[in-house]
Amino acid sequence: MNSFVLDIFYPKKCIFCGEVLSFGSENVLCNSCTDKVHTIGEYCERCGKEIDPKETLCSDCKHPLHFFDKGRSVFVYEDEVKNAILDMKYHEKMYLSEFFAKLLYDLFASELAWDIDVVVSVPLHKARFRKRGYNQSELLARAFASLAGIKYKNDILKKVKNTHSQQELSREERLKNMMGTFEARPNKVYSKVLIIDDVYTTGSTIDACSKALLDNGYKEVYFLTIATGRRV
Ligand SMILES: [Zn+2]
Ligand SMILES: [Zn+2]
Repeated sequence: MNSFVLDIFYPKKCIFCGEVLSFGSENVLCNSCTDKVHTIGEYCERCGKEIDPKETLCSDCKHPLHFFDKGRSVFVYEDEVKNAILDMKYHEKMYLSEFFAKLLYDLFASELAWDIDVVVSVPLHKARFRKRGYNQSELLARAFASLAGIKYKNDILKKVKNTHSQQELSREERLKNMMGTFEARPNKVYSKVLIIDDVYTTGSTIDACSKALLDNGYKEVYFLTIATGRRV
């Protein structure tokens, strides 16, 4: 069936808000959502957070606190993007992971010269996984890896301690809380790892994963997330 016929019977809807898109539209977002998404402009060379164009590092990365090598994100975590990520995570709109994985891949392919051996996702603790039924980070990572033609492995990182919401904690407290929550299985084939996740805020999760990987013989760790929080 051609797309003209499909458009009549199944009008395309904005994947964020569900509004019907204009007939024959090639877009996936409506105009209103397109206007409201905030892609990252000038970014921190280390963690990819949006920064003042006069700076090269964000305030967080000026101190050598991170275990990962570098990371980037597509959006600032706010408004429509934040809602869409929460929908993907908690309201089972899993199809959004395909859309976001494509954006991560576009950023990777067009701007990043990272040499990557293997893609991993941030694992959920098995109790959490059982409750939610899927891991949004894994959906993203699998879709990304297949676009990029890089091997995806879900048995390298394992979450061994269940952590609770960290929203009230400071950066240092979060990091302390996260250390030792992940284990990495040593591997002789892969040494340069790319972690895919949905959101980077203080970096405590990515750092804890990176530390576990480095402690177990992996040499370089990079990350890609859909969005980053604005403030550290
Ligand atoms: Zn919309
Ligand atoms: Zn930074």
